Amino acid sequence: MHIHQIPIINYHKIDPLQDIGVTSRRPDMFRSDMQIILKLNYTPITFKDLRQNINIPEKPVIITFDDGYESVYTYAFPIMKKFGFKGVIFIPTDYIGKYNDWDVQFGNKKFKHLTKDQLMQLHDYGFEIGSHTILHRLLTMMSDEKLIVELRDSQQYLQNMLDEKIISISYPFGRFTKRTLRISNQTGYKFGTGSIYYRSVPASLSHLALKRFNIYQFDSQKVFIQKLGGHKMSLISLRDWLIQKGGVATVAYQYIRDLLKD
Ligand SMILES: [Zn+2]
Repeated sequence: MHIHQIPIINYHKIDPLQDIGVTSRRPDMFRSDMQIILKLNYTPITFKDLRQNINIPEKPVIITFDDGYESVYTYAFPIMKKFGFKGVIFIPTDYIGKYNDWDVQFGNKKFKHLTKDQLMQLHDYGFEIGSHTILHRLLTMMSDEKLIVELRDSQQYLQNMLDEKIISISYPFGRFTKRTLRISNQTGYKFGTGSIYYRSVPASLSHLALKRFNIYQFDSQKVFIQKLGGHKMSLISLRDWLIQKGGVATVAYQYIRDLLKD
């Protein structure tokens, strides 16, 4: 199976609180997502599995978590363990064990990131740990020198911590350019993922620009299944694009959300 045919879904926080933003998913909804994955006969794999190319199931799916919030350990991990599922966690290395200070979109609430010990436990269980750079800054605007440091030193840090090659990266805010892909490639990343919206990329770098769907707080089961299937979803894609634009066109977004309601 070609890498571009494997669905990749992405979560951020898994949290019972409703008011902490669209990118968080309630644990009961997350459990229902896992139930659907099981029912539809998908098998969660990691990029490492792909790299090793052994025991790739008939219907693979890659479950990712951006930012490495502690709630992944507290809420998602126990649920996934019950299902026997594993995933990929993308962590900004400077935030390990610390509170978040960039995600201020929804007030001044701060969220804790996974500690080193929690990351090790997840890793020992079978989760893959990938880079989400060092500082979670927008990569598209920075100098080559800074970009190289963000990509290389975060990889190095995780490699030292886990004693294995770090082969996957998720670009902060989902944003990248051809330069980001080229330098990621030179740094030794084998898989990269960002937002689902990007310009065309050279075929030789397309493994570093994998399509991925964010799962949001209000995504219904129906929408989740569509995202899992990678369906062409013009309306959903437009809505997600608006969310990613962050704060713009709120009216249009609400309008589309209402249209998508079950
Ligand atoms: Zn992020």
